[in-house]
Amino acid sequence: DPLIHGIQSKIRVVPNFPKPGIMFQDITTLLLDPKAFKDTIDLFVERYKGKNISVVAGIEARGFIFGPPIALEIGAKFVPLRKPKKLPGKVISEEYVLEYGKDCLEMHVGAVEPGERALVVDDLIATGGTLCAAMQLLGYLRT
Ligand code: 5GP
Repeated sequence: DPLIHGIQSKIRVVPNFPKPGIMFQDITTLLLDPKAFKDTIDLFVERYKGKNISVVAGIEARGFIFGPPIALEIGAKFVPLRKPKKLPGKVISEEYVLEYGKDCLEMHVGAVEPGERALVVDDLIATGGTLCAAMQLLGYLRT
């Protein structure tokens, strides 16, 4: 698909960042190209518009870049899932395990109502740990 290939070609691969052995997928170079950036958003909008999604939840930090334009286009609210101690209101937290150590995501209580359908947005899935934590927060998964 030439559209996908065009998008892919704008993502810079940086070897050994942030640690030796990691091939870091750098989306900042995609953002420098307005057409590729818009093509990316349009792909998600096409896929998720009209699917009764009322919440787009963006994972800090790069989910804050891709989430809001998708939310606006599909007519959903945007809910930031933040790293600890950034949100001023009452929060629910979800800890998750990283390759080395732990991290945590937080969401404002009441930002999402029971029964709402949510789309979780981030730039990249590696182990899926971050995405799972986000889904726990949204109450789709129970442990
Ligand atoms: P996971 O929790 O799936 O192992 O890692 C995904 C998270 O780490 C995402 O929040 C993503 O932004 C970040 N991440 C891991 N590897 C990369 C990478 O190569 N490029 C970018 N842009 N983000 C990465």
